[in-house]
Amino acid sequence: MDKKRILTGDRPTGKLHLGHYVGSIKNRVELQDKYECFFIIADLHMLTTKPLKEDIENIVSNSRELVLDYLACGIDPLKSVIYLQSAVHEVYEMNLFFEMLVTVPRLQRIPSIKDMAKSANLSELPFGLLGYPVLQAADILMPRANLVPVGKDNESHVELSREIAKKFNSLYEEVFPLPDPMIGDVPTLIGTDGNAKMSKSLGNAIMLSDSAKEVEKKVGGMYTDPARIRADIPGKVEGNPVFIYHDAFNPNIEEVQDLKARYKKGKVGDVEVKQKLAKAINIFLDPIREKRAMYEEKKGFVEEILFDGTMKMREEAAITLSFMKKAMGFTSAWKKIARKAEESKKAKGKNI
Ligand code: ATP
Ligand code: MG
Repeated sequence: MDKKRILTGDRPTGKLHLGHYVGSIKNRVELQDKYECFFIIADLHMLTTKPLKEDIENIVSNSRELVLDYLACGIDPLKSVIYLQSAVHEVYEMNLFFEMLVTVPRLQRIPSIKDMAKSANLSELPFGLLGYPVLQAADILMPRANLVPVGKDNESHVELSREIAKKFNSLYEEVFPLPDPMIGDVPTLIGTDGNAKMSKSLGNAIMLSDSAKEVEKKVGGMYTDPARIRADIPGKVEGNPVFIYHDAFNPNIEEVQDLKARYKKGKVGDVEVKQKLAKAINIFLDPIREKRAMYEEKKGFVEEILFDGTMKMREEAAITLSFMKKAMGFTSAWKKIARKAEESKKAKGKNI
């Protein structure tokens, strides 16, 4: 039996951070043997908040950084397809067909859209930002994916993709499987500043490619329990970013338990908690940094992976779009017109 498929990916707006890792990348790496994987560098989605010429010019270098992050984390290009969204033109056509299967109020109810507009400082919603989950449905359904490893903020988009797939299948023909989301161990990683979400655009992120010194600096400046103004005051562990990160990245459970117990009693300073956290994160990041540096040296390697992956995706996309057009009746409509035109031209002795 053919393997089931995964589609997921990222916008080429910068390097990946710890939130991306726990939300999606970890699952991708773990599932790449079991599933046929397609990873999208979603540059068209970047246009929703970054449509400037200079943003587009940055796609080349930002895509490179993303692929380096993927490889460093263990994504294997021999097993998985990594491709550039804008270079697979079928997605524009699929997007248009899907736009007819969803209503405006349905899109307006998706909370992440408003959040994105807010963090990009947009006072009014661009049409394309409202429609962004529809384009995402086109991405997911293009390889006819079954599973979508994403962070919690993207769960409602996968739900919309399911609805669109269901609607298409019932209106025309059964072309699409119904995709399921797969949420990471930490559904949404909190930011270093205590903001609910670690995000590139909020400047509260620890990047996978940060140096050990940068990690120490960022962890040192992390938000903790604001009520705890001295080390001998008992502190709160729940919802405290430093302990959320300890739970996510420090494999030494005994150490974490000990720090938590002492923190609750006012028997440990923030400095010790943070130093141990920075150490744990650096131990976690060390092999990722090493691999990244190794791939960075190989000239043209990343670009070849992206080029070959995009060519593969083009083949897959053409198959899906032809299924769709057949199911909808566009293929036979055009054939009929072409046949009649041919007959008419023949009758007049014209060449076609
Ligand atoms: P950012 O949100 O950092 O500005 P982005 O918007 O360019 O980056 P997305 O495309 O939203 O990146 O995220 C890529 C994937 O990573 C998605 O599956 C998303 O749910 C997940 N993700 C992003 N940030 C987090 C986080 N803080 N915690 C968990 N998952 C996250
Ligand atoms: Mg985002």
